[in-house]
Amino acid sequence: MLDVPAQNGPLIDRLTDKAAEVIRSGRYILGPEVTAFEREVADYVGAEHAVGVSSGTDALMVALMALGIGPGHEVITTPFTFFATAGCIARVGATPIFVDIRPDTFNIDVEQVAAAVTNRTRAILPVHLFGQACDMEALSAVANKHGLPIIEDAAQAIGTKSPLGPVGSLGAYGCFSFFPSKNLGGFGDGGLVTTQDATLADKARVMRAHGSSPKYYHSVVGGNFRIDALQAALLRVKLPELEGWTSRRRENASRYDAAFRASGLDDSLLRPPARRFDGHIYNQYVLRTSRRDELQSHLQAAKIATAIYYPVPLHRQECFAHLGYGEGSLPASEKASREVLALPIFAGLGEARQKRVIDAVIGFLRQ
Ligand SMILES: *Cc1c(COP(=O)(O)O)cnc(C)c1O
Repeated sequence: MLDVPAQNGPLIDRLTDKAAEVIRSGRYILGPEVTAFEREVADYVGAEHAVGVSSGTDALMVALMALGIGPGHEVITTPFTFFATAGCIARVGATPIFVDIRPDTFNIDVEQVAAAVTNRTRAILPVHLFGQACDMEALSAVANKHGLPIIEDAAQAIGTKSPLGPVGSLGAYGCFSFFPSKNLGGFGDGGLVTTQDATLADKARVMRAHGSSPKYYHSVVGGNFRIDALQAALLRVKLPELEGWTSRRRENASRYDAAFRASGLDDSLLRPPARRFDGHIYNQYVLRTSRRDELQSHLQAAKIATAIYYPVPLHRQECFAHLGYGEGSLPASEKASREVLALPIFAGLGEARQKRVIDAVIGFLRQ
C-alpha cells in the first residue's frame, strides 16, 4: 500500500543532518524549528495561522476545546471516517450527531447536515475524505445560517483545493495529521491546526500548552498537545517534495480511472472514485465493487496489498451503541463499508507495478 522507506531514501542525508542539528541544539519542545514549520505549512495550505500539535487527533481535540465544546453540546459529523473524528467529540463530553454520506464522493451529505441542526448544535465537523474536498460552499451556507463554526478534518487532505479555496482555510479551524501514512508523513505522530483568525490561533496555542497564558497562569484547562521540534524539523525537509508527490498520486489516479473506465465493466462491479471537484490529493484511491471481499482475497493471493477504509461506520461501533443508531439508519455509509477497496496509490508506485494491479483487478472482475 505504501513504501515509506523508499520515499525517504533520497532525502536520507538531509534528514539525518537535520536530526543531528536538532539533537545538538538542545531545543526539543517547540522553538524555532516548530515556528518555521508552522509558517511554511500555513503558506502551503493557504492559511493565515498554524499551530503545530502532537497528532491529527490532538488537532481535533485542540479545535473542539478551543471552541468551548463540551457536555450538552452536539457536533454534526460523518460516520464514514477514521475513528478520531467522532472519538474526539465524545472525549470532550459532547455528542456526535452522525449524518449520512454522498455515495459518489463518500463525503458528508450537506442536505442531511442542514436537517440535523438543533439548538444544542455547536459545530459541524466535516472530513475531506481520502483527499477530496467536501462541498464547502453548501456547508458554509448551512453553518452561516445557524452561526455555527466548521472544524475541517483535513487529516487526509493537505494541499487539497475546493472551489471555495484551499481546505483548512475555510472553517474556524482546519486539522491536519502527519501520521506516516498521510501524504506528508512524519517519523512518528504529529499534527497541525490552521485558522484564518488571530484570536482562534491564540486560543489553540493556549490549549496546546495546558491552557496556560502566561506560563503557570491557567484561565482554561488545556493539555500537552505540543509537536516535537524533531518532527517539525524533519517534516520541513519533506515539505518541499510534497507537491511533486501529490502530482505522482494524481497521475496514478488518472491511470486507474482510465483503465477502469475502458474495462467496460458494469458500474456495480467496478466503480472508480468520483472526482467531484478538482484539487483532489488522493491520500487514498478507493473504488467500489459488489465483489469486494472476493476481490481483496484474490489480490492478496497475487501479493497486491489493498485496504478497507472503513469496514464499520462509526455509528455502528460498539462504543457508540448508546447513541441508538440501528442497522440501516445511515444506509449510504453502511453500503460503502461493504463495497469499498483502497488500491495502492503512493507516489513511488510506478507504472509497471500499477499495471499489475490494474490487470489483476480487471482480470478478476471479468470472470
Ligand atoms: C489520520 C486521521 C486522523 C488522526 O490523525 P492522527 O495523526 O493519526 O492522530 C483524524 N481524522 C482522519 C480523517 C484521519 O484520516
